[in-house]
Amino acid sequence: MPDPLAPVAGFGVTFKRMFSKVVTEQYPEEKKETAPRFHGRHVLNRYADGLERCIGCELCAWACPADAIYVEGADNTEEERYSPGERYGRVYQINYLRCIFCGLCIEACPTRALTMSNEFELADRSRQSLIFDKGELLAPLQQGMVPPPHAMAPGTSAEDYYRGTVRAAPAAAAGDPDAQDPTRRAATPSGQVRSQLAQPYDTGGTR
Ligand code: SF4
Ligand code: SF4
Repeated sequence: MPDPLAPVAGFGVTFKRMFSKVVTEQYPEEKKETAPRFHGRHVLNRYADGLERCIGCELCAWACPADAIYVEGADNTEEERYSPGERYGRVYQINYLRCIFCGLCIEACPTRALTMSNEFELADRSRQSLIFDKGELLAPLQQGMVPPPHAMAPGTSAEDYYRGTVRAAPAAAAGDPDAQDPTRRAATPSGQVRSQLAQPYDTGGTR
């Protein structure tokens, strides 16, 4: 025989909830702060003089379980140097339609070129716009950095860069007006300047 009080018991639950604390988040008007080590949008970091940390080794792409990263390396020359050492990442893309934000790529990176920021607002209306290229992923230039290509600091080796002993751009390169103005950004390989580079990322990133 059905319990005659069952419908009333259901309303009881509703009534009780009316007086409990509201947990609805008012996003996007009020954004909740993420955990410090949150895995968000990636950043390709630079050294203190503006040279790129990425050496185009593709280890991040091999580590990615979602096949979301595409890298093409190229040789640095003394006339055109983008990173310390022999190679740099000429093409770098992350497909955010595939990425699951697991962080395996940043663990695989030998130069700490790739880290993750706390930015999570990555929704967009087109699939194409969610494939971020190198111009969008590169960390913004900070005061005193010079956009590559430029020479390494005199008398230094790639190892000095890895050890963090290079702290500024060479004086000759620092005469470049871009070095004085952190809002001016290096061009992407396609020659297009991306406005996203002006976003204030911490070049240290999350690891
Ligand atoms: S976070 Fe994970 S899924 Fe995303 S690019 Fe890195 S390895 Fe691939
Ligand atoms: S981001 Fe790191 S792992 Fe990926 S290609 Fe560049 S140096 Fe290699």
